[in-house]
Amino acid sequence: MSTADHGVQAFIGIGANLGEPEAQVRDAFDRLAQELPQTRLTGRSRLFRNPPMGPQDQPDYVNAVARLHTRLEPLDLLAGLQAIECACGRKRDGSRWGPRLLDLDLLLFGEQSLDLPGLQVPHAGIAERDFVVLPLLELAPGLQIPGAGPLEGLARRFDGAGLIPIAEPEANVAAAEGRR
Ligand code: AMP
Repeated sequence: MSTADHGVQAFIGIGANLGEPEAQVRDAFDRLAQELPQTRLTGRSRLFRNPPMGPQDQPDYVNAVARLHTRLEPLDLLAGLQAIECACGRKRDGSRWGPRLLDLDLLLFGEQSLDLPGLQVPHAGIAERDFVVLPLLELAPGLQIPGAGPLEGLARRFDGAGLIPIAEPEANVAAAEGRR
């Protein structure tokens, strides 16, 4: 897939821990595919269940990573992600690490490093988060993280013990096998 034809490769971190987190993460993949202009969804990691960062008195998270190819500018892509968060009922009340219906983070935008008002790329903290690094590794094992080096090197620091893969629903497995 050439960059000229399909735009820049970007990765989105997806997380939820309120309502029905698994369903919301699956819905987020569909929305990323359908609701962002000039953008194609080109990869989905598995879904993983894991304990919350920060305050522990909240439900476990479900996390995943999506790969996009987009012709949007980074700030326009971020605005599109925030519109999807709002459509999914997230209230931007300024609290950090609090429970949420849906969180979408712009993890990587091509090989760019950006420090703009309201947008830092690579997303701060990628290197410390197993629930980001390990799903990313499924999608793009050879990736280089600007400022942090090869993804494979980062992944070696995690044993993945806290991340529990969530099985695909039977219906999805049957559909995927039917397409082969
Ligand atoms: P959070 O509560 O973790 O979703 O953080 C949302 C805030 O982080 C918003 O004000 C965004 O403008 C800002 N932000 C900075 N860099 C990023 C990024 N790479 N992806 C998503 N939000 C970002």
